[in-house]
Amino acid sequence: MTEAKKLYVKTYGCQMNVYDSERMAETLGAQGYVQVDTPEAADMILLNTCHIREKAAEKLYSDLGRLKPLHEEKPDLKIGVAGCVAQAEGEEIMRRMPIVDLVVGPQTYHRLPRMMEAVDRGERALDTEFPEEDKFAHLPKDRRTRRGPTAFLTVQEGCDKFCSFCVVPYTRGAEVSRPAPRLLGEARELVERGVREITLLGQNVNAYHGAGADGSEWGLARLVRELARIEGLDRIRYTTSHPNDMEDDLIAAHGECDKLMPYLHLPVQSGSDRILKAMNRKHTAESYIRLIERIRAARPDLVLSGDFIVGFPGETEADFEATLDLVRQVGYGSAYTFKYSARPGTPAAERAPVDAAEADDRLQRLQALITEQQRATQNAMVGRRVQVLFEKPGRMEGQITGKSEYLHAVHVEGPESLLGQIAAVDILASGPNSLAGRLAG
Ligand code: SAM
Ligand code: SF4
Repeated sequence: MTEAKKLYVKTYGCQMNVYDSERMAETLGAQGYVQVDTPEAADMILLNTCHIREKAAEKLYSDLGRLKPLHEEKPDLKIGVAGCVAQAEGEEIMRRMPIVDLVVGPQTYHRLPRMMEAVDRGERALDTEFPEEDKFAHLPKDRRTRRGPTAFLTVQEGCDKFCSFCVVPYTRGAEVSRPAPRLLGEARELVERGVREITLLGQNVNAYHGAGADGSEWGLARLVRELARIEGLDRIRYTTSHPNDMEDDLIAAHGECDKLMPYLHLPVQSGSDRILKAMNRKHTAESYIRLIERIRAARPDLVLSGDFIVGFPGETEADFEATLDLVRQVGYGSAYTFKYSARPGTPAAERAPVDAAEADDRLQRLQALITEQQRATQNAMVGRRVQVLFEKPGRMEGQITGKSEYLHAVHVEGPESLLGQIAAVDILASGPNSLAGRLAG
């Protein structure tokens, strides 16, 4: 028997990339590759890149540069670049980095087997098309790499919103939803493998409008309600959403569907209407606040999360104060804060930037407020009983950790036989990033 070829995958960026990396590893698994934990042990290295972060391309080139000595040591080592930087800079990567054998975009990785055949013949392969076919229909069914009780399931990809700062519509393409029967089937398979919680993924997940079995169009609420009927699936989450796609039936589902967890990531980006307009967000601060009120009316204990960009071109101190005001009014359980960075090819990249020191200062002030709110939300859990899905052993001997329905990390002393199970926990203390509790008797 020949020894299995070894694959090392490095994932940058969002959960959609984590999902894509798993699918690519499975596709290559069907070609005889097994995953390893270090680049040194690998016969093939795949870097699954993200274009959202600042200097994404520079980071990729420096990571590739660091692989050069390893490549010299192991001339047969194959190196591939996937994801959104591959999509945006494919030709350039091939030109600048002769050690790269393969470049594949986020929409074409189901073609990896064919590309690998070319690579094995000593050729270099590049595929960054936006093909008509659904890549998910062409991926191996067997999700052997799956471990643990939680899983991601991509339900839609791409975005038609064109926020003026964002590369997603260019790198991931137009919004496409996967057919509902296929998603229900995939969810059932995951549950058979021990998954208890599924997070539905999409760049704009609540824009989901997939075809049902009878050809009718399903929104995200319908999909959630049908998934909730799967026995053994206990928890459903979804991310990331756009405020303008929070339809009434989805809001209602938050109140009616017990399996839909009381946690929502709903980015607003700014609290200033002038900046929201310049960002092409097509909502106002006020309409967002009203929307939150409606969602909280349906599910009063909902913990809210968001994304914010500070230092967007033209942002004044007054605009920034409006963002702080919005944060104070809404009250977040967590949030991601980003300093604006120009993405070549996006409309905002043409505009004059805010002074860098000013943007840094705003970022720090916003982060301080968010941290305060995050702590307060966490501290308010002390004394409450929550349900925890235990995922792994804790850092201390005899400890196990998991997530509450509110997505807080919770650790308790308990037996490993509870891993993969949901149990009631009384929260005793709140640390910087997690809660400590005791299994309820
Ligand atoms: N679709 C989601 C939405 O509508 O908010 C977010 C998708 S994007 C992958 C994740 C976050 O990255 C955005 O919400 C935004 O806050 C941040 N982001 C995107 N482009 C950025 C840029 N050019 N500079 C700074 N942050 C950016
Ligand atoms: Fe990017 Fe989200 Fe705006 Fe789409 S809705 S363009 S993914 S920030």
